Amino acid sequence: MKIINGDRLAETFKTLAGIDSISKEEGALCRWLQQRLQELGFHTAVDQAGSKVGGNTGNLIAHWRGNRAAAPLLLSAHMDTVEPGRGVKVQFKEGVFTSAGDTILGADDKSALAVMLEAISCIQENHIPCGPLELVITICEEIGLLGAKHLDYGQITARMGYVLDTRNPQAIITRAPSSNRFEFRIHGKAAHAGAAPERGINAIALASKAIAQLNLGRIDSETTCNIGLIEGGLATNIVPDLVVIKGEARSHDEAKLEQVTAAVVSAFEQAVAAGRQQSGEALPMLEKDIQSDFRRLFIDAGHPVVALAQQAAQHIGQRMDMASSGGGSDANVFAEHGIITAVLGTGMENVHTVNESIALADMLRATNLLIEIIRIHAERS
Ligand SMILES: [Zn+2]
Repeated sequence: MKIINGDRLAETFKTLAGIDSISKEEGALCRWLQQRLQELGFHTAVDQAGSKVGGNTGNLIAHWRGNRAAAPLLLSAHMDTVEPGRGVKVQFKEGVFTSAGDTILGADDKSALAVMLEAISCIQENHIPCGPLELVITICEEIGLLGAKHLDYGQITARMGYVLDTRNPQAIITRAPSSNRFEFRIHGKAAHAGAAPERGINAIALASKAIAQLNLGRIDSETTCNIGLIEGGLATNIVPDLVVIKGEARSHDEAKLEQVTAAVVSAFEQAVAAGRQQSGEALPMLEKDIQSDFRRLFIDAGHPVVALAQQAAQHIGQRMDMASSGGGSDANVFAEHGIITAVLGTGMENVHTVNESIALADMLRATNLLIEIIRIHAERS
């Protein structure tokens, strides 16, 4: 009853993977997608997110009215990839796509784009029931969900849908943590390390005392904390007067996230206050910047977006386990704007490494599931 064109799906994926689209440089890919979606009868628009984040294109928003009256369904994926992602030479052996080994493949998230395009082509060719579709193809997901954060939500009417941006095609991610980002700058005082160390205040030593007090890594089953970057000092013979420390905390529980964040802040405050007591002057001094990166995704097991995916999976004889993720995605941001999207997988493996791969069979599975989701949704409405 539905004929997915595996060769076309493979060809589309290869083409997409061959178009460079590092974060903030998604312009060429955006134009390719816009053209293809227009050929499929979509109204397309590019929003202003690109100029807000300093990129060469905005998010691509595409609408198709479908062939049935139904509530609009949002489908989303991101255009951008991480480095090294320029000049990807796609290999295909024994049903599996890889890069040539010197770049990522970009299955994250171009496999999702290929799956969505193939599902739409297949729906149109086979007159499969389909309600209005709203495609949101974001920029700069990999550098802090920036496209989703600056999306023109005035162009979106859908209140539920799916983000295709994870590994397992037989799971649905309904939970993801909230995340805070923090940056501390400890100001000490420079002095010659050999001639007059007593005149200096060592910012690196103070930072070390603070960090040594922290509980890092996995704090409990739903909470993590990391110091990811430390930068300071100029030379071995200078007492360093500045150190910058960046990190993050995540939790599926908002209260725990606030607790962990407060503990991190307090460790830095105490270390610097103790330093000031010792020096008896205005230095050392602490500057801090704590920001909410994204809020948690928490979709109830009974939500229609879950039921729909599970029913579709059942129809095609496939599993669909509810899962939770340790990472944020555009779905976290959409939820903050009242659009409930669960995250579905396409089969991508070892993402963000030069060993990234994806099996065509998994992309076919994801396409089949997506078509079934769209069909059931249209027929039920
Ligand atoms: Zn991704």
